[in-house]
Amino acid sequence: MASVFIVEDDIHIRELAVRSLADCGHIVRAEATAMAGLQGIIDTAPDVVILDLGLPDLDGGDLLRMIRAVSDVPVIIATARDDGAEIVQMLDAGADEYVVKPFSGAELEARVRALLRRVGNVGATKRIVVGGLDIDLRSRQIVLDGQVLDCNRKEFDLLAYLAEHAGRVVPREELYAEVWREPFGGADKTIDVHLSWLRRKLGETAAEPRYIHTVRGVGVKLVAPT
Ligand code: CA
Repeated sequence: MASVFIVEDDIHIRELAVRSLADCGHIVRAEATAMAGLQGIIDTAPDVVILDLGLPDLDGGDLLRMIRAVSDVPVIIATARDDGAEIVQMLDAGADEYVVKPFSGAELEARVRALLRRVGNVGATKRIVVGGLDIDLRSRQIVLDGQVLDCNRKEFDLLAYLAEHAGRVVPREELYAEVWREPFGGADKTIDVHLSWLRRKLGETAAEPRYIHTVRGVGVKLVAPT
């Protein structure tokens, strides 16, 4: 089972695709325009995108480039034009697979399955587990010992980044660059403030750390409690 996002303006094709993929157990979302599609893809981080090349508001090829600027999600392009040159161009622009209209639901599902097999296990890199900490990068949910933690955006990003690099001391400069996307501010206390909020949520303190360990003068390390 995978989450599939379809961007297709033709209601008949869209409904055929949604129905046949949902019947196979996939979670399917769909939009009819490029801009709504782009927003939906960013918001829901699907496993696969099926992208119609002829959209009303934007060329599908342009949308593909916009998706590629923000995401590595596997993309299947759906084209009405069985045009070798165009397909090659789309594959070069970052598409992973294509399907030519008209296609059957079974054919589309087979393409989705084959593509997912090729790109590896769905969700394999979208979840990080460190000790009792379970971070779902797709739904942006943090569970600690079976309890959902209520974290704001920056707290989530910070904890997820530390967990992705668990066991390594991450320098503050790196946290500023990767989590805040800002150069290190020297005397800035932003990281300390967020770390202190996170520690409270994780049920620990700087003096008695469990997961988050500050290495003075170097950075921060996340480890599973012993
Ligand atoms: Ca179309």
